[in-house]
Amino acid sequence: MNSGRPKPYNSFETAQEQFDAVATRLGLDTGTRELLRSPLREYSFAIPVRMDDGSVRVFRGFRVQHNDARGPCKGGIRFHPLETLDTVRALAMWMTWKCAVVDIPLGGGKGGIICDPHNLSLAEQERLCRGFVRQVVRNVGPTLDVPAPDVMTSGQHMLWMLDEFEAIRGEHLPGFITGKPVGLGGSLGRTEATGYGVVFTIRETLRELGLRAEDTRASVQGFGNVAQYAIELLMQLGGTVTCVSCWDQKDQVAYSYRRRSGVDLAELRSITDRFGGIDSKRARELGYEVLDGDAWLEQEVEILIPAALENQIHIDNVDRIAPTVRLIAEGANGPTGPRADAVIRERGIFMIPDLLANSGGVTCSYFEQVQSNMNYYWSRDEVLGKLDLKMTSAFRAVAELAQRENLYMRDAAYVIAVTRVAQASRDRGWV
Ligand code: GLU
Repeated sequence: MNSGRPKPYNSFETAQEQFDAVATRLGLDTGTRELLRSPLREYSFAIPVRMDDGSVRVFRGFRVQHNDARGPCKGGIRFHPLETLDTVRALAMWMTWKCAVVDIPLGGGKGGIICDPHNLSLAEQERLCRGFVRQVVRNVGPTLDVPAPDVMTSGQHMLWMLDEFEAIRGEHLPGFITGKPVGLGGSLGRTEATGYGVVFTIRETLRELGLRAEDTRASVQGFGNVAQYAIELLMQLGGTVTCVSCWDQKDQVAYSYRRRSGVDLAELRSITDRFGGIDSKRARELGYEVLDGDAWLEQEVEILIPAALENQIHIDNVDRIAPTVRLIAEGANGPTGPRADAVIRERGIFMIPDLLANSGGVTCSYFEQVQSNMNYYWSRDEVLGKLDLKMTSAFRAVAELAQRENLYMRDAAYVIAVTRVAQASRDRGWV
């Protein structure tokens, strides 16, 4: 029965709608459509964890493998209290397109655990990570499915997972997981890769639009790993970041922090917890204007960088985007809802879609895997140089197609990605 209430947002439905539109544009046959619009494999499991007080809590974990026609599945593991199988399905599908658009030989996967790590001790988090691996050990591995960090997970979590995996398998297999700490199988440059990659695509867009970084201002949603390194490189290029928005753990609400002359990255980092939450009381003391959570969207800036979670720009707030905005770079996965996306397209704002903008993370993960498997590690400059080359050439290919066929950048990126995955599936004789 229709309750009259609007249907809650579902990322997987959005991912499928995006795919269906491209499938129609490409004239994909029914078999290929069927295969690509849903995951190949899904694992949903319980993770019993002994808590510090001696009790046992059972967490829910997921790992979804959307498609591996182009290579082993690849994608992060998120910790989030609102995680669902559908969010993980969507994110796994987006990983398939992301790896394909940047042309690395990997497929798409994603994992998630329903939990709030703010409320777990480090020892409890360690047992949760080890418990996750015990549930999926038969279905993941360097040649099958390779996890990585994502929302609220870090190199430390990856290392615990690796240690558990290697203990069970009885051998060193550092190619099992990426985002590991440097010195323990990690790659130099991996921590900054996603944020820096976002800025490589912004730099290329500014060139297209005939703008100089020095003449631009940016507003950012999120202050986790992606946002912090995007801000760092953007500032190095001469840009100014005037506003940052993120979650305040104490108040359980999001705020935007504004300083019109430009935020001070080091200062903000010094009042931020390890999950990217800024202490609003201390921000106020430092002279930042503390505004509502969505205020980052209405700033008079040229660049918007949503780098938090999915569906943050939606039909109810998209009109808050200021007329000065020239480009949006999606640091997060799926930050723009489909109806808001249509408005942005209509307004002619240049969109750098998530599968392109934030592909630096997985591209560097691919480099990490290569290094781990060889047990030979490259310099930071070599890693970041290769990353820049890979992302810039992916950007050029998407921008050229968009120009040639008069497509929105998201559609052009999807056309390239889906064509590659469909081709690989056909070449293998799956469809
Ligand atoms: N979690 C990141 C993403 O969404 C990186 C995935 C990876 O490195 O495998 O792209």
